[in-house]
Amino acid sequence: MEKLEMLYEGKAKKVFRTDDPKLYIVDYKDDATAFNGEKKGTIAAKGVVNNTMSAIIFEMLETKGIPTHLVKLLSDRETLVKAVTILPLEVIIRNVAAGSFSKRYGVEEGRPLAKTVLEFSYKDDALGDPLINDDHILALELATEEQLVIVKKYTYAINAALQEFFLDKGLKLIDFKIEFGLCDGEIILADEISPDTCRLWDVKTNEKMDKDRFRRDLGNVESTYQEVLARIKN
Ligand code: UDP
Repeated sequence: MEKLEMLYEGKAKKVFRTDDPKLYIVDYKDDATAFNGEKKGTIAAKGVVNNTMSAIIFEMLETKGIPTHLVKLLSDRETLVKAVTILPLEVIIRNVAAGSFSKRYGVEEGRPLAKTVLEFSYKDDALGDPLINDDHILALELATEEQLVIVKKYTYAINAALQEFFLDKGLKLIDFKIEFGLCDGEIILADEISPDTCRLWDVKTNEKMDKDRFRRDLGNVESTYQEVLARIKN
């Protein structure tokens, strides 16, 4: 399968057309951004880590009955995926308080939550991806009621599968963001699942093993991404 013209270039990935209109090739970059693009940098080999890790995780999720865009890992940085229309929603699960949740509600990072929190953000860089609720989504016609039911069902199932998967690798899943797409009218998991999109803390030391090392200048950014991939491959 060959890459034809580039359809889209995002902050961390490029998407290419192929000779099959139903299939795209995603090419992962080393570029890193944070705080809605205010902080920019590169993390050497991040593209390789995120591409490989996403493929391994999407394959695992498929075995748990979650439909995903994954077709086939093509190379270190490239994956063949089903062409989808991305729903303009960031779906976030929080198992433990951290990041913007801690800031917004004034709770210490690391505080376990009495209930798993599912949050939506409206995917719009110009607006800074504002937090929205079900009514906002329906009022703005970002998804239908039926689609929202499926998105939530899949998201809770993904959380359960990921928590178990990561715990087995010595990693606690604090929170994560996923995106869904529409493919022939069906909702499927798209985008990526990687240290860019999950908060992962070492089970024993609580050390941050994710993009917070870049966001907060904690050091050992590249080696941490490599360590996460090495654990996931085991
Ligand atoms: N996240 C993401 N992309 C975004 C915003 C958040 O992948 O544009 C992920 C982030 O890595 C974390 C979770 O979603 O695992 C919750 O992020 P939060 O809302 O706390 O925002 P942040 O502190 O990252 O700005």
